[in-house]
Amino acid sequence: MFTKRISKSQFMMGLQCLKRLWLYNYRRDLMPPVSPEQRQIFDQGHAIGALAREYFPGGVLVDADYKHLPHAIKRTAELVSDGTRVIFEGAFVFGNVLVRCDILKRNSDGSWDLIEAKGSTAVKDEHLRDVAIQLYVLEGAGLKIKKALLMRIDNTFVKAGPIDAKKFFTLEDITKETAAILPELGGELERFIEMLGSKEAPETGIGQHCSDPYDCEFRGHCWKGIPEHSIYDIPRLSWEKKNTLKAMGILLFKNVPDSFDLSDSQKLALQVEKSGEALLNKKLLAKFIKKIKYPLYHIDFETVMPAIPIYDGARPYQQLPFQVSLHVQAAPGAEPEHFEYLGDGKSDPRPGLINCMLKNIGPEGTLLAYNASFEAKRIEELARDFPESGEALTALLVRFEDLMQPFLERAYVHPACHGRFSLKKILPALIPDMTYEGLSVANGGDAQLAYFNILSGKLPPGEAEQLREDLKVYCGQDTLAMVKILEHLSRLMR
Ligand code: SF4
Repeated sequence: MFTKRISKSQFMMGLQCLKRLWLYNYRRDLMPPVSPEQRQIFDQGHAIGALAREYFPGGVLVDADYKHLPHAIKRTAELVSDGTRVIFEGAFVFGNVLVRCDILKRNSDGSWDLIEAKGSTAVKDEHLRDVAIQLYVLEGAGLKIKKALLMRIDNTFVKAGPIDAKKFFTLEDITKETAAILPELGGELERFIEMLGSKEAPETGIGQHCSDPYDCEFRGHCWKGIPEHSIYDIPRLSWEKKNTLKAMGILLFKNVPDSFDLSDSQKLALQVEKSGEALLNKKLLAKFIKKIKYPLYHIDFETVMPAIPIYDGARPYQQLPFQVSLHVQAAPGAEPEHFEYLGDGKSDPRPGLINCMLKNIGPEGTLLAYNASFEAKRIEELARDFPESGEALTALLVRFEDLMQPFLERAYVHPACHGRFSLKKILPALIPDMTYEGLSVANGGDAQLAYFNILSGKLPPGEAEQLREDLKVYCGQDTLAMVKILEHLSRLMR
């Protein structure tokens, strides 16, 4: 019999996957260490929590952490009985469940409003369950809750000076929605407690729930038997079809039957996967290459997406470009010239970045990016946020072509890509001596983390400079990779 308490986050784990909840209780040794990316997400969450508390000045924080829960519960009980108006991080227990509540506001009639702060710009289903389990515990513990509110980020917020929590957040009344869920929770809890009484983990198979609504920390354990180049790697294949293939005992992409219901593009990828031979549609590829006009500007941005905007004029979660790399070719096959700009982490990188682009991009020629809609969207936002350069920046938009297009349209399918078409897959397949392996910054996630670290201003001497050098190598490689890939595609036409 399971006699311990489960926390709100464990309750949410159980809703996602019973096995996740079981493993979390009995096999934490299978969890990977917290990654720097996760740490950065936690830090962002803490910053949002601190800002949310500014919405209710004068509130009292129960600051005992998870290692001192008895003290947190005792302190919360004191604050409830001594008439404290607003409590932050109050700890409550009912039955087998313990919750910490972001914000509790006492009303004049003695009832309370429960406010859950989220770093999201929309109310999601999982938020309703997260709040409902708190209501279950609070009401069970004897508190009368009048309203349940979700404090979410207002996506229309634009930073202008110090951030005012009342403008940054918006409160959504979710009292009715959470009340509708409440009756189900007792049964769910019973199910979890009974399952946790078992000595064996439930036999839950892998599936969409491994990353929906949250990435599960036990993927390394549950997915270890999945081979490389599996059905789970087939781009844009629905979970329903993946589950059907799994039920048929098919895990390898190359073993998918020709008769299986796939899109035309997936069928071509499957044909290449089975034959091991590249597939070339010269007509489609020629059509793409014909659109390229010289001088040619291979362009790539690196961005960060801070929840709390850093610079005036920026919005929550805005993709903020901090680096641009440009490889410029005057004519087909010409030696490319390289230009770049990287923010110093001390001031808004965007003016310097705009200056670099407008100085080095001439009035004619194609701008080529890999997944060009991303770069085009960033330029559109720069034009909006820096109207003095708006006209010049907007004029660039019509000149974009997308180097991903021939791969997306399956004009060229290489067997080493195994159906994928990201730059990180295409480059080593087409240009084997150019790889991202071994680079200190080797992907967009690394680049974001590196820049967040530079922004923190807390790095030991020399480390920020080293990270800036690593970022230059990485972003420069992205645009040089485009030069080489286009050359490769052009050679195929001969
Ligand atoms: S990886 Fe998937 S199946 Fe395994 S515990 Fe996590 S959610 Fe459950």
